[in-house]
Amino acid sequence: MGATSTEQSFALLKERILKDGKCLPGGILKVDSFINHQIDPTLLRAMSVEFVKRFSDVEINKILTIEASGIAPAVVLGMLLDVPVVFAKKKKPSTMDNMLTTEVFSFTKNTSYTVCVSSDFLCPQDKILFIDDFLANGNAAKGMIDLIKQANATLVGMGFLIEKAFQEGGKYLRAAGIRVESLALIDSLDNCQIKVR
Ligand code: 5GP
Repeated sequence: MGATSTEQSFALLKERILKDGKCLPGGILKVDSFINHQIDPTLLRAMSVEFVKRFSDVEINKILTIEASGIAPAVVLGMLLDVPVVFAKKKKPSTMDNMLTTEVFSFTKNTSYTVCVSSDFLCPQDKILFIDDFLANGNAAKGMIDLIKQANATLVGMGFLIEKAFQEGGKYLRAAGIRVESLALIDSLDNCQIKVR
C-alpha cells in the first residue's frame, strides 16, 4: 500500500470524526453513527488495511479485543489477516471452561467490572494483537495485558481506531515498551470542540 492510500485512510477517519462525531460532557467522543452503534464496514476495512500495513513487520496469529465495540474492527482485521479473533467477555458465561479473569475500570461507565476469556482460546503459543475502538486511560488495555500474561501468551502490539491523546493510556503503554498504533489522535475535547491532530 503506497503513501497516498495511507494518507487517504487517515483523512477518511479524521474527516468522519469531525463530520459525524459528537462531544459529550466529561470528555467523551460519541461515534455511534459509524463505529459504536451503526457501523460503517467500508471505513473499518480501510482502517484495517492501515493496521495490516503498520503491523506488517510482526508475526500475529490471533487478535484479542473486548466486547462490545472492539469486536467489529477486530473481526474486519481478522478477516484481512486470516487469523482468529477472541473477545474478552464482560459477563462470566456459566458454560465457560478454564476461565482467566481480570478487573477493568470502565471510563465511560465509571465502574469496575470483571472480564474473562477462556484459556482454550488464549494460549502460550499465541502472538496477540489487541484491537479496540478507543484508547483513553488504558484500563481496558491493562486488563488485556494481565489476561495475556496469565495465559503466557505474547503481546505483539495494540491498535486503536481513536486515541484520546489528552488522556494517559498512550503514554503509559508506550512507556511500558508496548507497540501502540492509533489511527486518529484526539488532542482535545475541551468546550465540546473536537480537535483532531
Ligand atoms: P480506557 O480503558 O483506555 O480508559 O478506555 C477505553 C475504553 O472505554 C474503550 O473500550 C471504549 O469503549 C471506551 N471509551 C473510552 N473513551 C471513550 C470515548 O470518548 N467514547 C467512546 N464511545 N468510548 C470510549
